Amino acid sequence: MNKDKMSKFAHITKVHPCFNEKIHDKVGRVHLPVAPRCNIACKFCRRSLGKEACENRPGVALTILKPEEVEDYLNRVLKEIPNIKVVGIAGPGDSLFNKETFETLKIIDEKFPNLIKCLSTNGLLLNKYYKKLADLNVKTVTVTVNAIDPEILKEIVEWVYYDKKVHYGIEGAKILIENQIDGIKKAYDEDLIIKINTVLIPEINMNHVVEIAKELKDFVYIQNIIPLIPLYKMSHLRPPTCEEIKKVREECEKYIPQFRACGQCRADAVGLIKERKILEEFFKEKNKKL
Ligand code: SF4
Ligand code: SF4
Ligand code: SF4
Repeated sequence: MNKDKMSKFAHITKVHPCFNEKIHDKVGRVHLPVAPRCNIACKFCRRSLGKEACENRPGVALTILKPEEVEDYLNRVLKEIPNIKVVGIAGPGDSLFNKETFETLKIIDEKFPNLIKCLSTNGLLLNKYYKKLADLNVKTVTVTVNAIDPEILKEIVEWVYYDKKVHYGIEGAKILIENQIDGIKKAYDEDLIIKINTVLIPEINMNHVVEIAKELKDFVYIQNIIPLIPLYKMSHLRPPTCEEIKKVREECEKYIPQFRACGQCRADAVGLIKERKILEEFFKEKNKKL
């Protein structure tokens, strides 16, 4: 990414914990789990909702918040945790596939203008919504890009729902890759700051991840390579070793700066440590059934 853009983004990246390793454990962020539905089928994805969903990983949330509950919830979070600077929508499905995401962003923009608005997505709809996000003052977007070769991506994503049709295998993979790359470029031109997340799956994309970094280096601020959590249709696969992750990050670092502090948060993560407790108490008071 060119230096002018880097300095243009500095006022955000220096305070955003997911874009700046140095402050990752010092600045808080809150995820609003308002987006339950997803439009693709990653073979490693098993979403979990409810009280029993106690794992700490993406795709997991205690409950789904409604946009009209967000203001009360955020007020509560900000009261209890003073150093929250970022509010993000990270599922538990795909943020851009849920209209509640846009309703929520509008509320945050009006009521909490000082919070940095952030979003994570699989990128299928980014080329459709990048302008809307910029207009809602979203500053940072994370796109999960696991392959840019459809032959490889079809091993990771089973199907893609697009234009009111389910596209299986290579057909779906082609659509997803095309839309992700197009969306990232357009979002970059609109001054959204892009991070890419890449799930490292040794048997599938290990030797290919560097190609993603080469392809997107001009448009992406930072890359976050995270290990496969072997679940669902990938439960028989192994996660990468620390050595393998280190090696791939070093290869990719030649093209895109690497983020190495990620602990793979839940879709309802909040603050630095107190997450579940605040959300649980909030709903107990509202008498919402969990
Ligand atoms: Fe799961 Fe996210 Fe993939 Fe959707 S995009 S299937 S929520 S990992
Ligand atoms: Fe960080 Fe992603 Fe959450 Fe944004 S959506 S605050 S980048 S984890
Ligand atoms: Fe940090 Fe990773 Fe959690 Fe984002 S998902 S807040 S980068 S640990």
